[in-house]
Amino acid sequence: MLLPIRCFTCGKVLGHLFEEMKKYKDINEFFEKHNIRRYCCKQVLLTTVDVEEMFIKFKP
Ligand SMILES: [Zn+2]
Repeated sequence: MLLPIRCFTCGKVLGHLFEEMKKYKDINEFFEKHNIRRYCCKQVLLTTVDVEEMFIKFKP
């Protein structure tokens, strides 16, 4: 499954932030720097699991 480009609820563009998020140890610092204040956007960023790497193991 691909990473979502926009927040499902409000439509804010989040697709470019997934790689950036991995660089931060403190998630609140990341949210403040990128001006992410709504719970819907935080939910999308924190709960998305990239399963594409897991599927590669099962590729014939
Ligand atoms: Zn949102």
